[in-house]
Amino acid sequence: MSQTIALSKCLIHTAREAVARCPQCRQFFCRECITEHGGRVLCAPCLAKQARTANETGKLAWIRLPVAASAAFLLLWMVLFQAARFISTSGAD
Ligand SMILES: [Zn+2]
Ligand SMILES: [Zn+2]
Repeated sequence: MSQTIALSKCLIHTAREAVARCPQCRQFFCRECITEHGGRVLCAPCLAKQARTANETGKLAWIRLPVAASAAFLLLWMVLFQAARFISTSGAD
C-alpha cells in the first residue's frame, strides 16, 4: 500500500523505473509500456485486452444485424402470408 511510483519498477521491464500506473490493472509501467488511449493512460496488456474486447463487440454487432433483419423479414412474411391466405379463402366462398 505504501508503494510509490518512484520506488516501483516496470512490470515488464524490471530494470526500468516506472513512470506511471495503469488505472485498470493497478500495475506500474515504464514510459515505453504505458500509452495514452482515448484520454486514458493504459498499459500495453490492458490496451490489447481493450482492443480485443472492442473487436469482439464489433464482430457480434455485425452478426446480430443480419439475424435481426432476417427474423423481422420472416415475421413480416408470415403475417402477410396468413393475411393473403385469409383473404383468398374468404374471397373464394
Ligand atoms: Zn494495465
Ligand atoms: Zn516497461
